[in-house]
Amino acid sequence: MTEHAPVLPLWLCETCERPWPCVTRRAELLGEQDPVHLAYYLSLCLISAGQDMSWAPPDVLRRRFIGWLP
Ligand SMILES: [Zn+2]
Repeated sequence: MTEHAPVLPLWLCETCERPWPCVTRRAELLGEQDPVHLAYYLSLCLISAGQDMSWAPPDVLRRRFIGWLP
């Protein structure tokens, strides 16, 4: 179980207090899941975060949740 889970509704890492997924969580996710499932999972997170942070520019959220994928 990760110590780098998101704290809602701001989606900040509970350990780093950085925007989730933080650098540590990104590395964990890449090691835990295959690329297709990871992209699907992060897409669901992106939709949920977009609802929680409706004030945030969609492009910024997209880069944060999806844009770092290899
Ligand atoms: Zn973290």
